[in-house]
Amino acid sequence: MSLPNGRLDVHSYANPEEIRVRDVALDLDVDFGKRILSGTATLHFERSDPAADRLVLDTRGLDVARAESGRGQAWAAARHEIGPADPILGAPLSIQLAPGDDRVRIAYATRPTASGLQWLEPAQTAGKRHPFLFSQSQAIHARSWVPVQDTPAVRVTFEATVRTPPDLVALMGAAGNSTGERGGTYRFRMPQRIPAYLMAIAAGDIGFAPLGPRSGVYAEPSVVARAAAEFADTEKMMAAAERLYGPYRWDRYDILVLPPSFPFGGMENPRLTFATPTVLAGDKSLVALIAHELAHSWSGNLVTNATWSDFWLNEGFTTYIERRIVEEVYGPETSGMEAVLGRQDLEDELARLDERDEILHIDLAGRDPDEGATRLPYEKGALFLRSLEELFGRARFDEFLRGYFDHFAFQSITTADFVAYLRRNLFDGDRAKADTVPLAEWIDRPGLPASAPRPVSEALARVARAAEDWTSGRTETARAAFPNWTTHERLQFLRRLPSPQSVERLRELDQAFGLTGSENAEIAFQWLLMAIRGGYAAADARLGQFLASIGRRKFIKPLYEELVKTESGRARAREIYAKARPGYHPISVETVDRIVGTPA
Ligand SMILES: [Zn+2]
Repeated sequence: MSLPNGRLDVHSYANPEEIRVRDVALDLDVDFGKRILSGTATLHFERSDPAADRLVLDTRGLDVARAESGRGQAWAAARHEIGPADPILGAPLSIQLAPGDDRVRIAYATRPTASGLQWLEPAQTAGKRHPFLFSQSQAIHARSWVPVQDTPAVRVTFEATVRTPPDLVALMGAAGNSTGERGGTYRFRMPQRIPAYLMAIAAGDIGFAPLGPRSGVYAEPSVVARAAAEFADTEKMMAAAERLYGPYRWDRYDILVLPPSFPFGGMENPRLTFATPTVLAGDKSLVALIAHELAHSWSGNLVTNATWSDFWLNEGFTTYIERRIVEEVYGPETSGMEAVLGRQDLEDELARLDERDEILHIDLAGRDPDEGATRLPYEKGALFLRSLEELFGRARFDEFLRGYFDHFAFQSITTADFVAYLRRNLFDGDRAKADTVPLAEWIDRPGLPASAPRPVSEALARVARAAEDWTSGRTETARAAFPNWTTHERLQFLRRLPSPQSVERLRELDQAFGLTGSENAEIAFQWLLMAIRGGYAAADARLGQFLASIGRRKFIKPLYEELVKTESGRARAREIYAKARPGYHPISVETVDRIVGTPA
């Protein structure tokens, strides 16, 4: 569906239907003292409308000093204008072009408040000695650090020169990342076309360890060895994904482990996944996150949602593929547990969401696309694909998906493009089966079709029985089994206990399983949620420490939401948040401000 002005994306001011940017060259200084990036962006473009004389870019809070346009080596000053700023979209930057121009050069600087960058003080890092910078461009934050056509419908190649203090390292989601050499000037080149939301930069005291011939891990020096051990199966995951969906097309796959304020689990920046340190559990039990980010190398990065209403094409496919990779590497028991927990997450989300947010092809007009990033597009999308796999058979469906990635490689597509491809390449081959698929219910309606798959896991069913036993006072089953359970089983056990638990029962659990002291972030999170609900004061200090040291939105949002349900909890939330807020990422601040309120 196009908008009346011919534009597809309601979250961008850009005019790619007239002029399309094809390549971006950045030359940037990283100034930790002022907390700004400054320099130039040179954009090469093609005219789809030969008469077009104005390039419109997206910006948010950029200070533009100068714009020039030109062709070849000839440059001339260009009239430019920044329009009024919208709280969600930022402001359009229009640059006047002369006939024949094919490039613009913009001199600009970011602001310390750039929504796509987080500047960390040394105290917020593991090493405590150097500052750290990282970007998070998805959904529409690239425009806060680069003037671009910030719509996933536009793909560009890019190159960059980045200067940092000489003892620090800059990395980008691109070729050219240093595996040891420092010096303060770094050059990058991204030869594959990507949308702006996948542009990524980081800088800090960063070390490297190889994982395999084409993979490795970056992190602060004191974290590198632990991260390399945790992610040792990365090459196996890559091989599994390639067997299923065709070659890995991004040359290298590296992972950057960020400081704990990173607001997400992971971000699939091509060639360089950004990951939260909260997955470093010590036992590989949370590495499904890496399977997920790696899966994006096919779904999302290779075949990309053309607008944020099509976000489920990125995340539903990726969640489905993540579980297929986990099945290949860790076996069906593990992937089966993840599917069961995924459906539980989805049902929890369905109980909370407005109907308009339960629709895969979501309408986000007038809204921040970050609001659409609930669990719904992930889990409902994955369940939809699983239903197709079950109906048409795994062999047929795998062949279909592999063909889909080949067909749309390095393109950005809409939900309508996918549906047309699905009809032609899967449904038309078996009309009788196709007629049973409630396609409109899956894609355009709230809730779940009655025929939606219900994954089962014997291991989790055993855990559920242990939880029932515990509840009725027979605690030996869980006491005997807990030490041997995986993280998934432990989580399920806690989730299946009735809520709230009394303080006495919480103390009994804590004494049996050492939950307040758990260093596993998922377990600690689940336990702290139960502790708040049951008023278990012995976990208070751990709660304060957890919220002050971790900025991952998946954890902090539900904990604050649970706290503010009572008067005393609200006071406690305010007190914790006042201390924690300066350390949170702008995206997490935005979220928690809405729950707790902005501190005075
Ligand atoms: Zn994802």
